[in-house]
Parts: sequence; C-alpha cells; structure tokens
Amino acid sequence: FLEPAVEPPAGAAPSAALEAVRSAAALPAALRLAIARGHLSLAFQPIRRCGDGSLVSVEALLRWEDPDRGPVPPDTFIPVAEETGLIIQIGAWVLRRACETAVRAGGEWRIAVNISPVQFQQPDLAGMVANILRETGLPPGRLALELTEQIPLLRFPRAREAVRRLQAMGVQVALDDFGSGFSNIACLREFRFDLVKLDRSILALPPAQRGTVLTALLAVSQSFGLKVVVEGVETTEDWGMLQALGADYAQGYLLGRPAADLALAVPDAFPGQPLAPCSSPAGAFP
Ligand code: C2E
Ligand code: MG
Ligand code: MG
Ligand code: MG
Repeated sequence: FLEPAVEPPAGAAPSAALEAVRSAAALPAALRLAIARGHLSLAFQPIRRCGDGSLVSVEALLRWEDPDRGPVPPDTFIPVAEETGLIIQIGAWVLRRACETAVRAGGEWRIAVNISPVQFQQPDLAGMVANILRETGLPPGRLALELTEQIPLLRFPRAREAVRRLQAMGVQVALDDFGSGFSNIACLREFRFDLVKLDRSILALPPAQRGTVLTALLAVSQSFGLKVVVEGVETTEDWGMLQALGADYAQGYLLGRPAADLALAVPDAFPGQPLAPCSSPAGAFP
C-alpha cells in the first residue's frame, strides 16, 4: 500500500529530486521565453567523405543558452518542444536559418537539418520546405533533412507522402540514429531514404562487438542502396576502421566539433578558401 508521504521539516531545503521535478515542470514556459528572447541558436558540424575527408555536408544543431540554467541540451528540450507543439515553430526557424547560412557561405555541400516526426503533423511540411527554399534562394539539391524514429515514423501517414514530395524536389532525406531505438528494416523499405546515419552508440560498443555490428549495419544499409554516415567518430582508430569497412561518410569530434561560427566549425565550407592546416594537439582533422 502507499507509503505515508514524508514531509520535509518546515524550512528545510527542498531535495535535489524535488528541484529537478520543478525545473522540468518549468521547461515549457522557459522554452517559450527562450524563443521570444532569442536564446535559441544553431551550431554547425561537418560530415566528411571517408576516402579523402572532403566536405559532404554540414549538420545544423539547435542550441539553447539559458541565462539562468546555462546550456540546455537538445536531448532535454527537443522532447519538451515536441510535447508542447513548439517544435513546429522552432523547426521552421531552424530550417530558415540553416538555409540562409548555407546560401551565404556558398559551395556545393548540403546543409543537413533535423526534422522531428511531430513536424509531419502540420498539414503541408513539403510545401513549407519549398517556401523556405524559395525565399532563401537555396537550391533544393543543397538541402538534406534528417528524420529520427524516436516516434515510429510509420505511425504518421502523412510522413511517407511528404518524404516522397521532398525527394521529388531534389531534397535529400536521411534516416538518423539508425541502430538505436525504433530503427527497423520495415522503415528502410517503406521510405526510400537517400542516406542512413548509424548512431554513435555503435562506435561506443566494446571493441569485440564494434566491428561486427558496424559491418552488419553497413551491409544492411548498402543492400537498400543507401549511402551511410557513421556518427561519433572520435579517434583516428575509428576513422581508420570506417575506411577499412567501406563506410561512405563520417561525422564526429575528430572531424570537426559543432560550433556556432561556421567558419570556425567548418573552415573548408567557404569555396575558394583552402582548408587551414589543423595542427591542434587533439589532431582535429586527420
Ligand atoms: P543527432 O541529429 O543525431 O545529432 C548528432 C549529435 O551527436 C549532436 O548532439 C552532436 O553534437 C553529437 N556528436 C557529434 N559528433 C560527436 C562525437 O564524436 N561524439 C559525441 N559524443 N557526440 C557527437 P546534440 O547537438 O546534443 O543533439 C542531440 C540531438 O538533438 C540530435 O541528434 C537531434 O536528434 C536533436 N536535435 C538537434 N538539433 C535539432 C533540431 O534543430 N531539430 C530537431 N528536431 N532535433 C534536433
Ligand atoms: Mg541529425
Ligand atoms: Mg544522429
Ligand atoms: Mg544521434
């Protein structure tokens, strides 16, 4: 039966657990304020070709810097944005800002933008994307959208039609975080993705399993005709293994950390500017 609630003595400091609950309950209101006050921003991280390390695309990652809380991680606030529906408005802003940034930098690389499954609840996601492409002047061939299966995509009947329309426009569509959560073979079959991104939890497996699991997932993805990005490449050993196993593309701290300034995060994103030699002790670029 229910334990009697233990009341803290009057005047006692609230427990850490209670504080955490209060802080979580305050997140929706704090997120609304963050939007109104312009506390959301983007960080940029390169995705590179396994052969020569050349730039393929740049992922835009949402950041929330709260004056009281400090940085709030996306894994904390994206679910809040999804539950409140704020992700519709935030997602449109991210897309517009990302496209503007890619147009300003120029070049041939794609800008990769994460799309929440909840965004498919809006009546015309493909039309919204088309409008933003037209207004910012980004060619559709320079946009990639990354879809995660946090909420199984197949439950959203509009998703398949929207993905088909986006691809018909020339937008690339990637399945993100494959190998974690709900990712399944049915999803690869039902959606004709262009690209699959293997979750970074795979490179974090113990060495005995890492190579085997990676080989299997590469084979599955490539059997569907999909190019593969491996996420979470942090060491030269990881990078060497991907080359040996035939992965197409890679993303991770070794190849470039996310940063707000595109020119710092991805020095080779600007055409005509040679890649600055990177000789940091961490060996940021192999
Ligand atoms: P994601 O789309 O899988 O993005 C990659 C995540 O891995 C990013 O985390 C990135 O900072 C991190 N990462 C990259 N390389 C490495 C590495 O070598 N090691 C490690 N440990 N981590 C690495 P971040 O920025 O915290 O974003 C987390 C997730 O939040 C994203 O995962 C994505 O699902 C979601 N997210 C971020 N921005 C947006 C957005 O604008 N819209 C939506 N709907 N979701 C977003
Ligand atoms: Mg992503
Ligand atoms: Mg991912
Ligand atoms: Mg991920």
